[in-house]
Order: sequence, then C-alpha cells, then structure tokens
Amino acid sequence: MAGQERACIGVMQPYQPGKPIEELERELGIKEITKLASNENPLGCSPLVKTAINNSLAQINLYPDANAFYLKQALAEKLGVDAKQLTIGNGSNDVLELLGRVYLEAGSEAIYSQYAFLVYPLVVQACGASACVTPALPEDHAEQPLGHDLSAMLAAITEQTRMVFIANPNNPTGNWLESGELLEFLQQVPERVIVVLDQAYCEYVQDIDYADAIDWLAQFPNLVLTRTFSKIYGLAALRLGYAISSPQIADLLNRIRQPFNANSLALAAALAALEDQDFVQQSRSVNQLGLKQLQTWFAAKQLPVLPSAGNFITVKFGADAMTLYQKLLREGVIIRPLANYGMGEWLRITIGSEAQNQHLLRALERCL
Ligand SMILES: *Cc1c(COP(=O)(O)O)cnc(C)c1O
Repeated sequence: MAGQERACIGVMQPYQPGKPIEELERELGIKEITKLASNENPLGCSPLVKTAINNSLAQINLYPDANAFYLKQALAEKLGVDAKQLTIGNGSNDVLELLGRVYLEAGSEAIYSQYAFLVYPLVVQACGASACVTPALPEDHAEQPLGHDLSAMLAAITEQTRMVFIANPNNPTGNWLESGELLEFLQQVPERVIVVLDQAYCEYVQDIDYADAIDWLAQFPNLVLTRTFSKIYGLAALRLGYAISSPQIADLLNRIRQPFNANSLALAAALAALEDQDFVQQSRSVNQLGLKQLQTWFAAKQLPVLPSAGNFITVKFGADAMTLYQKLLREGVIIRPLANYGMGEWLRITIGSEAQNQHLLRALERCL
C-alpha cells in the first residue's frame, strides 16, 4: 500500500451509522419505512427553521460567520453563560474531535466506560492516545444496569490521564448519573484531567435527579459540556453542536477549529430552533408518552429493557437479536444492532411518533 499511515489509524473501526431509509428501499424495494435507528426527532424540526433556511439561501455564495456571533449570543443568553465560553462545532462530534486534538497525544490516556458512545474510542485512537475502558455496572444492578461506574472511572485515573468522557444520559444504554454522584466525582478528579460531559440528550430528561451542570463550570475549570442540535431540535442533517466550557478551553478549541466548521444554513437553523421552545416541549412530551408505551409493551412481553432518560430504549432480545433486526428490516422497520458495542443480544430502538411506534409494535408482534 502506498504511503505510511500513523499506526493508530490502522486499528480503528469506522463508525457504523444507522441504516439509511434509501438504502433499505434500494435493497428490498420496500416503501413506508420507519427508521428508529439514529435517535432522530420523529416530529422533524420547528417550522421556524424552514423559514430561516429559506431566508439564508440568498447568501449561500458568502462564507458563514466564522465566529457564529448571533447563535453564540442566543445560546449564551439561554444558558446563562458568556459567549466566550461557547465553541460551535459541525455536530457535537466535531467538538469531541477538537477536544481530543487539544488534549490527547501518544503516551497520554483517556478514560471512558464500557458501553459508552462509540465516538469516544474513535477520538482517542485518532489522536494516538491510549484508551482506558472501565467496566460498566453489572447487568443486575438495581438502578443503572450497564451504567457508568464512576468509582471505577475515578480509580482508573493515572499520571498519564488527560481526559474522561462521560455521556449523561449515555447512548446506547439510556442510563444516567444523578447530580449528587456526578458532583462528588468531579470533586475528586484532579484539575489537570478534562472531564467531558456529553449531554446530547439532556433536553429529553424528565422526572429524574439530573444536573444540567452549567452552574458547575465556575467551580470546575476542567469541565466541558457538549450539546447538540441533532436530537431534540431535529437538525441532525445540518450538523450543529457546541461545547460549554471555561473561556480558556474555548480559546484552545478555537485555535484548531476549521474557520468555517459550521455552515450558514445550520447557524440560521439553530438560531430559529432555539426560539421555538414550544416545539422542544412538544418533542419532550411525545417522547415521554412513546417511551412509556414501549416500556409497558416490553414489560408485558417480559423482555428486559435498560432504564432510559433519552429518546430511545435498549432491549435485550437475546441470542436471536440480529435475526430479529433482519426480520424487522423486511417489515420496513429499521432499528439499531449493538454488536459493535459488545452488546450483541441487545437492540436499540428510537422512540418514534405514535404511528411509528405502532408500526414497530405490529412488526415485532409478527417477528417475535
Ligand atoms: C447523537 C449523539 C451525539 C451527537 O452527535 P452530533 O455530532 O451532534 O450529531 C453526541 N453524543 C452522543 C452520546 C450521541 O448519542
């Protein structure tokens, strides 16, 4: 092979996205497909977004505002932080990559939990750093089966540790960490270790003891929060996420960021989406109803599910999980296999609209 790649790239496994609707259409010639595979918002996005995108089309020949002035202003006001604390990314994935490139290199270590979001290993490997994967809580744990074990994560910190990744709630498990245990953890992590708290699903959280963690930023200069417009705001296609951190960390991220990493349609869309909190509220309620409906259904079938604070549910179907996934494809329902997470007996299902959930349950009735 031509060229000589960095050794760390050779061991990487590319990210496996949920199966696209068009691909299933091409493969099986089915119409009316329900995709519940990528935790996308079944309601679409706010109508204000479409107007905003239309309005910005006239300036598609111009480079976007590299500093995302208006979006940062709006976010700063909504979150009660200074605009200098914000970093805008091409999806929060981009922000995770930037964090890796600022803090990780060969010889350094990053910690994340077993069953945590698969982008963390990719970031760590791409930087040539070493991953320390701490065992998840046991499957028979009373509150958070397969959740993050914070004491194991704390114990794994060494002189080489530069970063800890925590997803709250986590994907693909749906597990969450309560505010007290998280605060206690932060108090014990040395300041030289960056704690990345990935809050991609925070807007979905309801009825649990959950910290949005913004108030903690002043107390913990090593804390970085990441959030996204891909999930509850329904803008996954546009790729827009952001980090909230100290101004010093934001300054470092800004140095290596591509100058135009967020495009102008995405910036305009995000600004409009933020204004429509009714849409966010509606998305939250539809999700809550759907989650309850699916939880009840799986309980009646005596299929184990993990507790979820997000917009998806992770179900143990056992050794036949992959067969079931394939059968559901033929029924026009796409969900997410988790073998690449080391959870081959589980499948992850995004909570859909009422009609989509009905489609799923009818298909499951036939396939189980
Ligand atoms: C979906 C998701 C993200 C968001 O990715 P984007 O790049 O913003 O689309 C981040 N973290 C987790 C845990 C996720 O599930």
